[in-house]
Amino acid sequence: MQPLNTPPPRSAPLPGAAQRIFGLWWRRQSLARQDRFATLGPLVSVLLFLAAIILAFWYLRNEEFEREQESVKRDTEIAQQQIRLRLIENQEQLVRIAREIATRTIDQDEFLGQAASFTRERPEITNLIWVGANRSRRAGYAATGFHPESGFGGEESSTSVPKEGAKTAPEAAFTAARDLRQPVYSRPFTDLYGAAVFQVQVPLLDRSAFSGTLIAEYSIESLMRYFIPAEVSTRHSVTLVDGQDRILASTVTPMPGQQNRRSATTIVHDVPLAPAGNGLVLRGQGYRTSIGLISNTLFWMVAALSVLTVWMLLGTWRHMRRRLQIQSTLVSETNFRRAMENSMLTGMRAMDMEGRITYVNPAFCAMTGFSEAELIGRVPPFPHWPPERIDENTRLLQQELQGRSPAGGIEVKVMRKDESQFDARMYVSPLIDPKGLQTGWMTSMTNITEAKRVRDQLSASHERFTTVLEGLDAAVSVLSVQQGELLFANRSYRLWFGADARGHALLAGGDPGLPVIGGLSAFGDDGDSVDSFGGLPTQELTEVGSDAREVYIDPLQKWFDVRARYLQWTDGRLAQMLIATDITGRRNAETQAAQQAEKAQVTSRLVTMGEMASSVAHELNQPLTAITNYCNGMVSRVKGDAIQKDDLIAALEKTARQAERAGQIIRRIRAFVKRSEPQRQPAQAQSIVEDAVELANIELRRRNVAVHVYVAQRLPTLMVDPILIEQVVLNLLKNAAEAIDMAQLPQARRNIEMRVVPKHTPEEGGVIEFSVTDSGPGLKEEVIARLYEAFFSTKAEGLGIGLSLCRSIIESHRGRIRAQNLYNGDLAVGCRFSFTLPVETAKSAGLEPALP
Ligand code: ADP
Repeated sequence: MQPLNTPPPRSAPLPGAAQRIFGLWWRRQSLARQDRFATLGPLVSVLLFLAAIILAFWYLRNEEFEREQESVKRDTEIAQQQIRLRLIENQEQLVRIAREIATRTIDQDEFLGQAASFTRERPEITNLIWVGANRSRRAGYAATGFHPESGFGGEESSTSVPKEGAKTAPEAAFTAARDLRQPVYSRPFTDLYGAAVFQVQVPLLDRSAFSGTLIAEYSIESLMRYFIPAEVSTRHSVTLVDGQDRILASTVTPMPGQQNRRSATTIVHDVPLAPAGNGLVLRGQGYRTSIGLISNTLFWMVAALSVLTVWMLLGTWRHMRRRLQIQSTLVSETNFRRAMENSMLTGMRAMDMEGRITYVNPAFCAMTGFSEAELIGRVPPFPHWPPERIDENTRLLQQELQGRSPAGGIEVKVMRKDESQFDARMYVSPLIDPKGLQTGWMTSMTNITEAKRVRDQLSASHERFTTVLEGLDAAVSVLSVQQGELLFANRSYRLWFGADARGHALLAGGDPGLPVIGGLSAFGDDGDSVDSFGGLPTQELTEVGSDAREVYIDPLQKWFDVRARYLQWTDGRLAQMLIATDITGRRNAETQAAQQAEKAQVTSRLVTMGEMASSVAHELNQPLTAITNYCNGMVSRVKGDAIQKDDLIAALEKTARQAERAGQIIRRIRAFVKRSEPQRQPAQAQSIVEDAVELANIELRRRNVAVHVYVAQRLPTLMVDPILIEQVVLNLLKNAAEAIDMAQLPQARRNIEMRVVPKHTPEEGGVIEFSVTDSGPGLKEEVIARLYEAFFSTKAEGLGIGLSLCRSIIESHRGRIRAQNLYNGDLAVGCRFSFTLPVETAKSAGLEPALP
């Protein structure tokens, strides 16, 4: 975004070029500098204005001072001129009177007459005295206007008359007038009434002889009063001072105690009081002694206003700086928000209170495909509303404008410009202006098509998963390991055990091979696979490790195949999952099958015995015949008393042995066919083989087949059912003998070899191998394929269940049975049946040497 910029302040109209240069310069300045100039400009101009005002005042003051000085000078000179003219005129008149006195044209009375008229016209003259050469007072006239009480020849004139030898001013003037023979003005002095006066003494010269003087005494005060023009005295003060700078008279009355001080600022102009020339100085003085700025109200007003303006400008400047800071913060904030808004993928749309679009962000435009210009200012129905949903959208918008939109947002269909549609979720929030009033609504929009698709897929797959789990015949349950809380249970579980964890515990606890969970049940293999610290199995949790266990649940009277595994539940908790499959049916079938198998085994043994019945009868016949013979022999010999006691005993012992032998055969057969529960016990291969061979011998002898037995020494003890193994061995020996017999082999080939040896094979580990090898015709191809099939027999009266039973017996002992032909070239020269039995205990038993 273009950063906000302050518009350049409007400058005063300047001539084109200057304006351009200024504009160029202004634009080159940074924003802060422009602001500084804009603030400092007025400040500087106010200061300049203040300086100009001070300068103007200073100039005016100087000007006025000079004018005042000029006016004082002029006025003083006017006053001086007035006085001078008067003095000269008076002096001329006095000279005339003096001449008349000297030429004796007038006498003393006439003098008085002239003096009276003279002084009447000249109020400045207080006394007019005629003194002789000897200083004697010849006549005198005092102006009555001033001293009414003074009379001619009064005492008061004594100070005005010169006295010889006295150092008074009249005396000095008298002497000077006499010596110089021209009018002389005296120094000023104080007359009898304390008034300042001075005299002019005109010498009376009669043909160059000095005959006295005519003294005219001026009142200085009157002189000032009458001869300084009123306009002068109103403008300025005019003072008459003597040589010692003492004020003699003044147009202004000095304040009591005020000294005649001349300050530096006072405008003063001194002129000598010519023609008096007696040290009197006429001094003009300006009334306004100072025209300083300090006393100028206007100046102070201007100064105060300037200071106020400067102060306000500084305030404005500070304010502006604060505003500028706020503005720059605002600008960066706006930039930040704009960048954020431009970069985000959520569409934003602002509306006013009437629903008119006032703003859309780039993401909104990108999502809908409409440009900003196409959207802003639009009113509903908006272009991004699908036409078929206008009614619904109008209702939603109305709801939105009334502020009733749900907080969780609303799902809508949005149409792009190309008329394709997508699902969106919209959230609405009010737009509030700085005054706290709502101006519109801000809507944010996110495209949820993908999310919705994923969600739909997820829920579908979840549904499938649940359906599968629910539909399972097996009970599936998940239990949290720590809390013992049932996290999941499917329909089958609920059906069998209800909705609590007890069923899980029963299934888990039904077998000691499952570890303890929550103290409810046991799952631990001797505690070894369970961590004593956490009660957790030490096996890898993800390992599909548990074997199937078969558990009988008594209340249900059902057998279950229980598989357990640990898993991490969706919330991260460790959980145990059990899958329990109802195997009651299979279990029952197995039991039944086992019972049938047992029955079959017994039957088979009976059949075997049945088959061997003639042999057994023959076998029993021998001892019985022998017993009969012995008994008959003994009876006849006892009757004939032809027997000794010892012979009799020997015969009886022989008889008993034969009976014993018969009983042994019977016992053996009885033991063999006795119906008993199959049960494993420690047994020696040697004795099994012995018993089997003993029984088989009955048959073998009849068929004239010899058996050679070899049993390896120190064979380990077997954990087997000896009767069943004996049955297998007997069966194999019998088959071998039958094969030999049926092939009508010559005597040399009528042999069977029976061997028992320990063996170690990679697949089976340590085993004991029993093998029966005959020299018969071997197995035919078609026989090999169906060898272990029940009821398969090649013999006329054969049942064909022998080998199939043998195999099930051996396999139930976890052994293997095999058959193979022995060849001499291509000719089969016999066959070898062998079976193995695993060695259950490592402990080997010391065995008797093998039977021959
Ligand atoms: P039966 O002995 O009742 O026939 P068997 O299951 O014991 O049933 O034997 C099945 C068949 O296997 C016999 O009929 C015979 O053909 C064959 N057979 C078994 N043992 C041998 C052997 N040692 N030599 C040759 N054939 C044999």
